[in-house]
Amino acid sequence: MKTNKLFCFIILFFFLIGCSPVKSKKEDKYKDFKEKVDSVLSLMNLEEKIGQMVLFTSGWDVTGPSMPSSNLQDIKSGRCGNIFNAYTVAYTRKLQNIAVKESRMKIPLLFGYDVIHGFKTIFPIPLAEASSWDMEAIRNSARVAAVESAASGINWTFAPMVDIARDPRWGRIAEGAGEDPYLGSRIAAARVKGFQGDDLSLPISILACVKHYAAYGAPLAGRDYASVDMSERMLREVYLPPYKAAVDAGVMSVMSSFNDLNGVPATESRFLLTKILRKEWNFKGLVVTDYTSINELVPHGVAANEKEAAELALNAGVDMDMQGSVYYKYLSDLVKIGKITEEQIDTAVARILKIKFLLGLFDDPYRFCNEKREKEIVHSKMHIDFAYEMACKSIVLLKNQNNILPLKQNTRIALIGPLAEAKRDLLGSWIAAGEWDSIQNIHQTIKENFGDKNVHYAKGCEIKKEEKSGFAAALKTVRNSDVAVLVMGESAEWCGEAASRSNIGIPEIQKELIREVAKIGKPIVLVLMNGRPLAIEEESQLSGAILEAWFPGSLGANAIADILTGKVNPSGKLPVTFPRNIGQVPIFLSEKNTGRPYDPKGTEQKYRSRYIDCPNDPLYPFGFGLSYSKFTYSNLQIDKPKFSHGDTIHISVKVRNDGTYNGEEVVQLYIRDLVGSVTRPVKELKGFQKLMLRSGETKTVTFKIDESDLSFYRKDMSYGIEPGEFIAFVGGNSSDVLETSFRFE
Ligand code: BGC
Repeated sequence: MKTNKLFCFIILFFFLIGCSPVKSKKEDKYKDFKEKVDSVLSLMNLEEKIGQMVLFTSGWDVTGPSMPSSNLQDIKSGRCGNIFNAYTVAYTRKLQNIAVKESRMKIPLLFGYDVIHGFKTIFPIPLAEASSWDMEAIRNSARVAAVESAASGINWTFAPMVDIARDPRWGRIAEGAGEDPYLGSRIAAARVKGFQGDDLSLPISILACVKHYAAYGAPLAGRDYASVDMSERMLREVYLPPYKAAVDAGVMSVMSSFNDLNGVPATESRFLLTKILRKEWNFKGLVVTDYTSINELVPHGVAANEKEAAELALNAGVDMDMQGSVYYKYLSDLVKIGKITEEQIDTAVARILKIKFLLGLFDDPYRFCNEKREKEIVHSKMHIDFAYEMACKSIVLLKNQNNILPLKQNTRIALIGPLAEAKRDLLGSWIAAGEWDSIQNIHQTIKENFGDKNVHYAKGCEIKKEEKSGFAAALKTVRNSDVAVLVMGESAEWCGEAASRSNIGIPEIQKELIREVAKIGKPIVLVLMNGRPLAIEEESQLSGAILEAWFPGSLGANAIADILTGKVNPSGKLPVTFPRNIGQVPIFLSEKNTGRPYDPKGTEQKYRSRYIDCPNDPLYPFGFGLSYSKFTYSNLQIDKPKFSHGDTIHISVKVRNDGTYNGEEVVQLYIRDLVGSVTRPVKELKGFQKLMLRSGETKTVTFKIDESDLSFYRKDMSYGIEPGEFIAFVGGNSSDVLETSFRFE
C-alpha cells in the first residue's frame, strides 16, 4: 500500500534525524553546562534573574501577532525571559532580536506554545491517538508536531498532557490518553520522545512539558478546576505513573496544575514539586505553573495575597510563573525582606538557563528562525499524509451488526447530521496554528468515494439548537436511500479546557432525529465526532453500525470515508470505558471487587454493589474496538505454573484472522492479583501488542511478566510484589478474554 511505504519512510526519516538509537548523554551534558550556567548567573543582577522566571503571553490580533509595548520593554530590560503564544519565524525573530541584541545579558527567549496534537497539520485529538495503541505512530505524530512548530520559531510545547481521566464529564479528557495508568505511561513516554527526540539541541526538537502535575484529571464531579481528594495509594498507583514515565523518558519541563490535591493546591505543593518530583524521581528540568495558577492560590484560600502566593510557590519548587506577574512583581521584595533567599532564585534560574543551553539557544538564538525551513516544512505533504495515517489508526468501530460496513460502492447514501459538513470541528480543541478552510469535510470525502449521484445530504438539525424544521427533508432523503449515515456528536468547543458537561449524551435534538430516522427502518451508520466517551445506549440500539471518529484532525474526513468504503480496515481500541448512562460515572476497568461483588448473572440479588435500575457493566468496555477482520484467540499458554524473585514468566496466545480483510489487532494482557495485603483491582492492563494479520494468517503473541508488573503499594505503602496467585487474561478487549493462572512464590 502506498501510504504504508510512506509511513515507513517517515518513521525512518524522523528516527534518523531526531530520535537516534544511540543512547543520549543527557547527564554528561548537564554537567558540561553547569560551568556555563554558573558563569552566566554570576553576571546577572537580581531583577534579571527574576526575569528568567517570568513567562508572558503574546497576543494575536486579526492582523497578526501583537504584544503590549510594556512586555517588549520587559524583554529589553531583562525582566521577561520567556514568551508563549508567539510563532512564525518573522515574529519570533523580532522578539528574539530584542532579547539578544537589546537586553544587557543577551539571554535568548524560550518560545512556548500549546502544540498538543499538531501545529499546522492537525492530528486526531490525543484521546483519539491513544485509541491507536500504536506507540511508534504516537511518537511520530509528536515528532511531526515538533518539526513543524520548531520550523515556525517554537522551542517549547506545553505537552504532553498525561492526566489520567475517569470521568467523561471533564472536557479535558480529550487531551489525554484516557483512564489507564499503564497505557497512559507508555503514551506519555512516546510523546516526550517524539517532541524532544534524543537530542534537544537539534533545531527539529522542542522542549516537552508534561502536564498538569498532578491529578488534575480527577476533579470533583468532573468539573474543570475543581478540587481533587484521593488517597496517596490511588495517587501513586493510578495518577502519578504517567508523569513519572514522562520524567523517565527525559522530559525537561513540568507544569504544575490548577487543582488542589487533598487540600494543597499543586502550585504550592512541596510534596508534589519537591519531595516526589525532584527527590524521588530525580527530575532535573524546570517547573512552570499553569496559567496564573500562583495568583489563584489567593482564591484557593491558602494565601492572603499574591505576595504570599509567590513565596509559597517558590518554596514549593516552582521555577517559572506563567502569565501571573506574581514573581515579576514580588520576588525581589521577598528577597529583600528575607522571606526567600537569592540562592533559591539562583537554583530556579540555573534550571531555566540549563534548558536554554540544552536547546542550543546560546550557540544560536535564531536556530528556530529559518524562513526557508518554515516554508518547506510546515504543512508539508509528508506531514499531511501522516495525519491521514494517524486518523485511520485512531477511529474505533464500536458496532457493525450484520457487517453493514463497509458499504458497497453503489449504495445510495442519505448523509444526515450537523457535523457532516463541519470543518473546524474535525480538528477538536487546542489546534495551535491549525487551519480548517482548506481541509475536506465528510460530505465532500464521502461524495468523492461513493459518487455524487449516490450521496444525498440533508443536515436535519444543528448540533444543539432545538429546531426541527430540517427533519422533514432529512427523513425524505433517508426514505429514498439504502442506508442512513448520520454524522453526529459534539462541537469541538465542548471538549478541552473549561468544557465540562453534566450530561454526556448526544444533544437531545440529534437524538430525536436519530429516533425519527430509525422509524423508517433503513440501516443506520452512526459516525460520532466527540471528545469524550458519550452515553449512547439508546443510539447504539437504534444504529446498525457505529464509528467513533473522535475529532480526527485535518485529514479525518478522508479517513472516515476510507473506512466506510473498506479501503481502510479500522483498528482502534477504546482507551477509556463508555458508560451506559451518566449515573455509572466514574466507570473504569480497574475497579475493586468489593465485599459484595456484582454478579451479572444474579441481577435479582439485592445486597450487592450494584444499581437497581441498570447493569454495572459498561456499554463498551476499555480496550474494545471491532475490525472488518475477525480475530480468533486460542491456545493460551503459560511457560511455567509459578515463578519467584528475579525470574520471569511467559504467557502466549494464538491469534488468527478468520476474516476476509487483512487487519491490525491489539492483543491485550490483563492481570488480577487474587489475594493481597490491600484490595487489588479486578483487572489491570499489563501489556499489549499491536499486530498486522493477513486474512487467514495466525500469529503467536508472547508476553513476558516479571515482578515489576505485579508490584503495587502494599499495606505499609512499601512498593513491591506479594506472593500468591494471579490470573492472567488475554484478549482483544478487556471483556472478551481467555484466562489462565500462575503463582509467585
Ligand atoms: C491550560 C494549559 C495550557 C496553558 C497555556 C492553561 O489554561 O490549562 O494546559 O498549557 O493554558 O496556554
